[in-house]
Amino acid sequence: MVNEEQRTTLIEAAMAIRERAYVPYSHYPVGAALLMEDGTIITGVNVENSSYGLTICAERTAVTRAITAGYRKILAVAVATDNAGSPCGACRQVLTEFAGDVPVYLVDATGNGRDTTLHTLLPDHFGPEHLGS
Ligand SMILES: [Zn+2]
Repeated sequence: MVNEEQRTTLIEAAMAIRERAYVPYSHYPVGAALLMEDGTIITGVNVENSSYGLTICAERTAVTRAITAGYRKILAVAVATDNAGSPCGACRQVLTEFAGDVPVYLVDATGNGRDTTLHTLLPDHFGPEHLGS
């Protein structure tokens, strides 16, 4: 369960880290923040590339940082954009590898937005259980 203080802290972390996004092409900075089981928050930003297809989203940047740090379970996700945009399909799938139906907070540049959940964003997802190993 994520309490109100954790929710607020997570959203603020996503909003703050957004300033570090590298977005010379889209000019659409995104900040993501993940709440881990021990209360640690792991952040990420989108990192674009002049070879556009190599761009990585903020959510996947955060996931790779979390896994690299030794974490395996995400308790909540916050994503900050200009307009409370929703994670892309690739990020929804990658988040699902390490999270159940966790809260996802989508906020705009002023902190307003909406709360949803990961399974709402990606129903009937493919997961490790489908591999049968
Ligand atoms: Zn994405």
